[in-house]
Amino acid sequence: MTTSVSTAGASIEGAGRGTVPSLDAIREDDLRRDLFALAGDAMRGREGGTLDELRASGWLAEQLRAIGLEPAGEDGTYYQWWHIRRIRQSDASVVRLGGEVLPLWREVVVAQAVDASLDLPVVYVGRATDAELNGVELTGKAVAALIVPPPNPPGRNVSLSAWRYTGAAVRAQSARFMSRGAAAVVLVADSVVDGALDFFGSVSARGTYGLDSAGAVTRPRQAAPVLLVRQRLASKLQAPGARLQATLTSESFTYPSVNIVAKIAGRDPRLTNEYVLFSGHQDHDGVRFPVDGDSIWNGADDNATVSVAMLAAARAWKRQPNPRSALFVWHGAEERGLLGSRYFVRNPLVPRSQIVAVLNGDMIGRNHPDSASLLGVQPPHRNSSDLVALALRANDLTGRFALDSLWDRPTHPEGWYFRSDHLPYARAGIPAVMYSTNLHPDYHTPRDGPERIDIAKLRRMTQWMYATGWLVGVTPARPRLDAGFQLER
Ligand SMILES: [Zn+2]
Repeated sequence: MTTSVSTAGASIEGAGRGTVPSLDAIREDDLRRDLFALAGDAMRGREGGTLDELRASGWLAEQLRAIGLEPAGEDGTYYQWWHIRRIRQSDASVVRLGGEVLPLWREVVVAQAVDASLDLPVVYVGRATDAELNGVELTGKAVAALIVPPPNPPGRNVSLSAWRYTGAAVRAQSARFMSRGAAAVVLVADSVVDGALDFFGSVSARGTYGLDSAGAVTRPRQAAPVLLVRQRLASKLQAPGARLQATLTSESFTYPSVNIVAKIAGRDPRLTNEYVLFSGHQDHDGVRFPVDGDSIWNGADDNATVSVAMLAAARAWKRQPNPRSALFVWHGAEERGLLGSRYFVRNPLVPRSQIVAVLNGDMIGRNHPDSASLLGVQPPHRNSSDLVALALRANDLTGRFALDSLWDRPTHPEGWYFRSDHLPYARAGIPAVMYSTNLHPDYHTPRDGPERIDIAKLRRMTQWMYATGWLVGVTPARPRLDAGFQLER
């Protein structure tokens, strides 16, 4: 479904006058060659915090050197290093039900990493309502219940919906029993969850990821363990005298990830200290369980498209520098929770106040050739009407995409605005927008390969991002922040 966007923004004096130079320097041949290199199997899916992400990052740095960009990372390099903190449930954890050891991650999933040693009587409550639980003593027990659909189940059209359904159901139900004093919660899968348990297990086994900082939590929050088990185990939980025994240990470790940062200095001595920031992420999901015999999750659309678009934009920008400087930042470990962009916003390599706009892209090479989305256009997501006006003007000068406004709405079930690297910048009060051609059925699967990318569309999207940056750079006044910007969450 495609609707047009209303341009309810202020116009800027002098904005968008004239033409954008060097659009022809953005070439399909370059984009295709770089895309097949970065999203090829040799890069093994570029998972954040692994050697595969580092290989891809090194490859990017070499392209930047060849294009002639100035390093803008640490110590005269293209790199900004930082650490991921990961907490997970150790595979040494053991869960027994009625004496039977349940294989971890296949028959039982520990929803959140925890340290605990348990030997508890099981109280089976099935689908009991709150009213039916009144008078039932749950304190100090292992409460076993059937999964019930979450209060607002994600729609069928929502990406990874069975996984989201499972997560929402587990959170809602475990909170109910915990507030009544349960010492452990055991939730029995329904048919939806049972079908998603392998996937849910593989994600849960990885644990949670965060930035390592002085304040980082290195041990999990101590709460009652929440276990999710296969449907077939319901009868064991109902057996008289059933007991849950478990030895649960967590583990925590750090490892490096990296942002790649380069710049092209502005030619106006008064404006060279102001930066137009192009943003993408080089990581994806790495090597995981196979789908149709393929275990490399290439992340061609997500987000090799924007990674190579930024190289192409850099080639064009380099040919004819702008009054303002361009800063190119490839963020590491976006897929692990926007970690690279969160780190950069906290530890910017140019003064944060000198970043005049952030143009972030995520997935720009799929779906209908003439449709695309610009996020950060509609309240409450719009933080700069000035920047939005320039981006819409740039679209008129380049891709002329029909803009799908649905994905930017606060009511959109995917919450797309909150799922990429512009977000930490917008939260920090920097004008920011995001370019995307949105989800498709190959999203976060091994089928997101480079052969499925529409290269002609990728070129037009690249020209659009580049032209926006160019217009921001030549417009005398920097884009203003909208008064009262306040995200809905
Ligand atoms: Zn992405």
